[in-house]
Amino acid sequence: MPAFQYLRPASLTEAIGAFRGDAAYLAGGHTLIPAMKTGLRAVERLIDLSAIPDLSGIERRGDRMVVGAMVRHAAVAHSPLVQATIPGLARLAAGIGDPQVRRRGTLGGSLANNDPAADYPAAALALDATIETDRGTHLADDFFQGMFATALAEGELIRAVAFRIPQAFAYAKFRHPASRYALAGVAVARFGEGPRVAVTGVAAGVFRWTEAERAIAAGALASLGPLERDDLIGDLHASAEYRAHLARVMLERALEELVR
Ligand SMILES: Cc1cc2nc3c(=O)[nH]c(=O)nc-3n(C[C@H](O)[C@H](O)[C@H](O)COP(=O)(O)OP(=O)(O)OC[C@H]3O[C@@H](n4cnc5c(N)ncnc54)[C@H](O)[C@@H]3O)c2cc1C
Repeated sequence: MPAFQYLRPASLTEAIGAFRGDAAYLAGGHTLIPAMKTGLRAVERLIDLSAIPDLSGIERRGDRMVVGAMVRHAAVAHSPLVQATIPGLARLAAGIGDPQVRRRGTLGGSLANNDPAADYPAAALALDATIETDRGTHLADDFFQGMFATALAEGELIRAVAFRIPQAFAYAKFRHPASRYALAGVAVARFGEGPRVAVTGVAAGVFRWTEAERAIAAGALASLGPLERDDLIGDLHASAEYRAHLARVMLERALEELVR
């Protein structure tokens, strides 16, 4: 791996100030370090976010559950506050990867990376989250912009994610047996104004399944046709048709959990 400079700032201001040239923020390193090792990512300045207190913590703020960007998946899974307020989100976090991944991987890293098979993007989209950064706020509806692409500008740093607290939330995923990433994952959140459904794993990026939302709201799920999109993923793990089929099955599983 080419040499790089390692920095571990103690404040947000320092971290943002340190970002110049070929720099990258380091969260748990679960995606970034392998990308550097394999030469997919050239980094000259690695800015470790782990010593910045402002990026940690989980709290309720009005109708939102606010989770710091550096909060590890295991912390969300074990948080009594998350378990009591959005239990389906705690279960989603508990189903990410394996114990090692959950102890290192972070919410901010997952959203910034926006892997098309990751779980948290589906939760953020279904839960109408806002992504709080050093420069302002992004709505989840605008944040995810396709495969590994987000609305973050160069050097923009995620501080926290504010999930809207729903009446109910459930997530069902058909996981890849080796990585545990989603071959298809469906998150459903029920709000006063209607349901929000987000799908991960099956297309180039996470997306809202608006036809499913309308069918659920109308109590007419049986009338929902097959999932159709131009960007369905077909690869050695699963064909596009199979993934679309799985999305439908995961939708039904999530809905079953929602009414339990
Ligand atoms: C074996 C394995 C299995 C996995 N299984 C799953 C799974 O089942 N489901 C799932 O959803 N995920 C899974 N993951 C992904 C994992 O959970 C992490 O979320 C993901 O790898 C990101 O890692 P990280 O948080 O360590 O971020 P890093 O790797 O440190 O960073 C990832 C990217 O985000 C940027 N970044 C990090 N933090 C911020 C911030 N606060 N602001 C702006 N940019 C930032 C970095 O610069 C980098 O570009 C798996 C990963 C591995 C290695």
